[in-house]
Amino acid sequence: NHKGPASRAVVIGLGRFGSSLALELVERGSEVLALDNRPLLVQQFSDAVTHAAVADSTDPEVLRQLDVPEFQRAVVAIGDDLEASILTTSVLSDFEIPHIWAKAVSRQHGRILERVGAHRVVLPEHDMGERVAHLVTGRMLDYIEFEDDYALVKTRAPGAAVGHSLGETKVRSKYGVTVVGIKRPNEGFTYATQDTVLERGDILIVSGRSHDVERFADLT
Ligand code: ADP
Repeated sequence: NHKGPASRAVVIGLGRFGSSLALELVERGSEVLALDNRPLLVQQFSDAVTHAAVADSTDPEVLRQLDVPEFQRAVVAIGDDLEASILTTSVLSDFEIPHIWAKAVSRQHGRILERVGAHRVVLPEHDMGERVAHLVTGRMLDYIEFEDDYALVKTRAPGAAVGHSLGETKVRSKYGVTVVGIKRPNEGFTYATQDTVLERGDILIVSGRSHDVERFADLT
């Protein structure tokens, strides 16, 4: 497990988003420097991450002492305190950190973060709200939408397609979607091919235009 400079990251703000992110990075083999200005929170995470420190991230001197300018990747996971979020992002930008990710609580907040130097902005509440909307009204089990109205969904095999191979059903030409993966009960996911015959209870990963995958998932 090679740990190059790319697998080191600094995570600033250990709220719900930042703490989940920091723990997942560690799980995936990254070295993580976790910072928060609340001592109790930092104490809680000191065993879980590579390094945890109490710091006010809006203060460039404090960050310098912690070697933050040496990092290639930083995540600003401060949400509600807009001033701290914006100042921290601009300090990281002054350090010329090549990959700055920042969490925003609104689109306007996100635009400001981009202005002050964030390379990637995430809107977790906003995105999750949109995503759950698709699940609430349809029969999909999971839904991810990419740009250009393109989606990847997890859904049960529609009854109309059970008992036939994917090639026979002409899923792609008839419904405009591609079945990418298939999971039988008690098995893991495998790739689907033209010869894959769908069975009742199969779980599918389907890709295509949002409208088409939703229509396919709604077939009974
Ligand atoms: P979430 O919604 O993910 O829980 P919050 O906005 O509630 O996010 O949490 C942000 C975290 O960032 C808090 O733990 C807070 O203490 C921390 N934080 C806020 N301002 C600063 C700052 N200037 N320096 C360091 N950490 C900060």
